[in-house]
Amino acid sequence: MSEFQTQGAESAEWFRNIYECSRCGNNWEDEWSCTCNDRCPLCNAEIEAKDSVDLSRSLTEEDFRGAGRLIRRLGIAPVVVTDEDAKDYAEAMLEGGPHRFEYGRTSRLRRNI
Ligand SMILES: [Zn+2]
Repeated sequence: MSEFQTQGAESAEWFRNIYECSRCGNNWEDEWSCTCNDRCPLCNAEIEAKDSVDLSRSLTEEDFRGAGRLIRRLGIAPVVVTDEDAKDYAEAMLEGGPHRFEYGRTSRLRRNI
């Protein structure tokens, strides 16, 4: 079996969300892996994104390698890196670094071997 299983369909999802507070008129931007609501930093109102820029990108071989390194560090063997693992890795890096990586974050059933 190949170490990397890819169907090539996955991408790391990342959005720059633009908000305008309907209560106090404050404008701000935030980047996250979804186009979710945010709290106004001034008045704490929950605001929907007014606009979102899609910064998503395709997974690269480095995403698979990076995920493999982190999974190996967890002591899980054999290391099989799936699209979802690479996606988790890529989004963790976008969020701030490898400490954000959470194995199996995309809630697939996993079997311990
Ligand atoms: Zn506000």
